[in-house]
Amino acid sequence: MDYPITQQNRVRRIPARGAYDRDTIHAIVDEAILCHVGFVDAGQPYVIPTLHARDGDDILLHGAPASRLLKIAASGAPLCITCTLVDGIVVARSAFHSSMNYRSAVLLGIGAPITDPTEKWAALAAFTEHVIPGRWADSRTMSETEMNATSIVRVTVESASAKVRTGPPGDDEADYALPIWAGVLPLRTHSDAPVADPRLDQPVDVPGYLLNYKRPGQS
Ligand SMILES: Cc1cc2nc3c(=O)[nH]c(=O)nc-3n(C[C@H](O)[C@H](O)[C@H](O)COP(=O)(O)OP(=O)(O)OC[C@H]3O[C@@H](n4cnc5c(N)ncnc54)[C@H](O)[C@@H]3O)c2cc1C
Repeated sequence: MDYPITQQNRVRRIPARGAYDRDTIHAIVDEAILCHVGFVDAGQPYVIPTLHARDGDDILLHGAPASRLLKIAASGAPLCITCTLVDGIVVARSAFHSSMNYRSAVLLGIGAPITDPTEKWAALAAFTEHVIPGRWADSRTMSETEMNATSIVRVTVESASAKVRTGPPGDDEADYALPIWAGVLPLRTHSDAPVADPRLDQPVDVPGYLLNYKRPGQS
């Protein structure tokens, strides 16, 4: 199922890199540990990094009720949510053709607060599970005070696009004869061994989901 291509979401530069299907867009959103939310406040654009979770086609955002991001997101103002994955540095023979391999998604939508306690509970679980699948069940149950201290916004995505670059540099034909190294330096999200809290008073095994932690889609 594709998002319709409109004036708002059409990738103009190198349109062959654009994708509008939900599978591609959702995979990027799920793999990205965080997103950036763009909004306009009093005529000034702001782009704020924050954690997100996906519920079907919708994006969930959460934070302190006093947060401007949450207040504006809940107000129904237009939002732009961007997720970016950098897969490699493309090292071309020329600086001009040097680039990056990436997968990015831009989602445009409108938010509304989630107030229903059951829906709010499911959303809170979704944030934890987005970061560490399996952690919600192991965490100490959230209190009502903690729930009340968290605002959650459901963003209904109205339009979205992905852009994906893969492969080697695209140098000028004449430059291939130059004695300059060119290629791709692959990059990926990597976790090191978990570091136990010094206040871990009891002997507790490191949960399996923290050992060899990978983002969804990573091999
Ligand atoms: C890691 C990274 C590095 C980049 N570096 C550069 C750079 O140095 N210079 C540069 O010009 N561009 C860079 N880009 C590409 C940049 O994101 C835009 O695609 C580019 O500015 C061209 O946009 P446009 O004029 O085609 O579309 P715009 O008119 O800016 O956007 C139109 C619509 O196209 C869609 N769109 C545009 N870009 C993306 C995207 N990246 N992902 C998903 N949807 C998108 C959106 O729906 C947007 O509303 C980079 C992208 C990434 C992810």
